[in-house]
Amino acid sequence: MKRRDFVKSAIGVAAAAYIPASQAAKFPAELLVLSRTGVEKVLKRGEIEDLASSLRRALLVPGSPRYNEERKIWNGLWDDRRPALIAQCIDISDIINAVNFARTHDLLVAVRGGGHGISGQSVCDRGMVIDLSEMRGVYVDTKTRTAKVEGGALLQDLDREGQSYGLVCPAGVVSHTGVAGLTLGGGIGILMRKYGLTIDNLLSVDIVTADGKLRHASADENPDLFWGVRGGGGNFGVVSMLEYRLHEFGPNILTSSSFYEQSQAKDMFNRFFENSENVPNDFHIWAGMSIQENGTPLTMMGFTYAGPMDQADRMTRPLLGQGKPVSEFTVPVNYVKQQSRIDAHNAHGRSYYIKGRHVNDYDPAMTDNILERWQHDPRRVNTMRLVTFGGAIAEVDNDATAWPHRQTKWDLELGASWTGAEDSEEFVEWGRDYWDSILPYTEDSFYVNEIMDETQAEITANYESNHQRLVALKNTYDPKNLFRLNANIRPKT
Ligand SMILES: Cc1cc2nc3c(=O)[nH]c(=O)nc-3n(C[C@H](O)[C@H](O)[C@H](O)COP(=O)(O)OP(=O)(O)OC[C@H]3O[C@@H](n4cnc5c(N)ncnc54)[C@H](O)[C@@H]3O)c2cc1C
Repeated sequence: MKRRDFVKSAIGVAAAAYIPASQAAKFPAELLVLSRTGVEKVLKRGEIEDLASSLRRALLVPGSPRYNEERKIWNGLWDDRRPALIAQCIDISDIINAVNFARTHDLLVAVRGGGHGISGQSVCDRGMVIDLSEMRGVYVDTKTRTAKVEGGALLQDLDREGQSYGLVCPAGVVSHTGVAGLTLGGGIGILMRKYGLTIDNLLSVDIVTADGKLRHASADENPDLFWGVRGGGGNFGVVSMLEYRLHEFGPNILTSSSFYEQSQAKDMFNRFFENSENVPNDFHIWAGMSIQENGTPLTMMGFTYAGPMDQADRMTRPLLGQGKPVSEFTVPVNYVKQQSRIDAHNAHGRSYYIKGRHVNDYDPAMTDNILERWQHDPRRVNTMRLVTFGGAIAEVDNDATAWPHRQTKWDLELGASWTGAEDSEEFVEWGRDYWDSILPYTEDSFYVNEIMDETQAEITANYESNHQRLVALKNTYDPKNLFRLNANIRPKT
């Protein structure tokens, strides 16, 4: 190579290194995409380049480096979905530009926070994903005891940062779940009976609505929208920031688990339903079963106690030694560690069919039915868990937020996970049949973040008496239903 060519090529390499990934990417001359209503259309290279150059981070299309890794979410059941565009956002301008592009080109849009939506609505085939998974900042203000959390943060980010200052926001139980999706649907976890749902601790959100405007919603500003995002899910826009009230708490929480022979499962569940309803709000009470692929069954019941530790002995004694546990332990655990204790049982990339229903009037026949169908299959891990609501959740009116299930007593979640894509059809069918047999014993209502394959009619009914007000909000903020991949509130046309 001549010296002059070498210098030119060296400059080229150096310059390329400084070109943002989004602009260096090669885009196809034409890209087939789906419109908002599912009609095929074509985007031209120039249009794609316009979007790419408006983003500070990368725009991925099929064939881009890391496209295959970045398109996947937690539930491997949706691994075959191939979005046409993944707009990776790292700030509010990125989100605004992505929303404007999607609206202008009338694209099918999925919004991704932590990527844990079980029903897979944060990834779409041939549409556009607005991906916030790199926006994970958490900013704690110790004076006001509040935290501002970016729209792609995970629970581990919030828990870890809060606990650095001895503060906590009640949220979920698996540390790699997204804060935004969990909050917008309600937010249940081990501190919910003491401090309420996550939405009961939400003070405000910054949200980019379908018109591309950034709005602040709180009790004082856009209060109607603030009401709607507390239970109305991702229906009203892309949330860039959530602000929470924090509580002084930690560093430890008392945790207790009792393990039983599977032959004792029926007694155990009957006792759970008898004893869990009227415990003090410092307790979170749960029961569950699982069978691993190797056939090892786990049948267990337990609680966490978040009250004063000097009263723990007296408070917890009535709940211990029930039935004939094979083993039982009660220990103080660091709160952040507790919050990741079941992470490994909820690994990324497996395929999951899991859903939930509320239970208010317990009929032991429900347990009989669950146990009868609880067969071991070496290709599958079965899981089932019950948690008790009540406490601080029930102290809020059904219409105070968009979350209408304040008087629900228990939440049942049941399903399975597996690794082989070739088994998916069979196991999804298995899950559906299983649930068909359980539904006669449960309420029709469900926790909106535990949806799997519910019909639009079931989703609409689940918003109960809040539905009409939610439709009015949808008409105001997203009249064309740009944000439709969620537990959708259909605007009135
Ligand atoms: C392993 C596991 C454990 C769980 N444990 C709990 C638990 O303890 N408590 C509990 O309450 N729930 C729990 N869930 C359910 C969880 O709340 C929902 O799956 C929730 O949707 C996850 O949020 P995400 O941001 O990770 O999801 P994503 O898949 O990223 O998003 C799901 C939906 O949320 C909306 N969304 C997400 N981010 C944004 C945003 N920034 N702006 C606007 N809309 C957004 C979109 O509509 C999207 O379709 C669990 C789920 C899993 C898979």
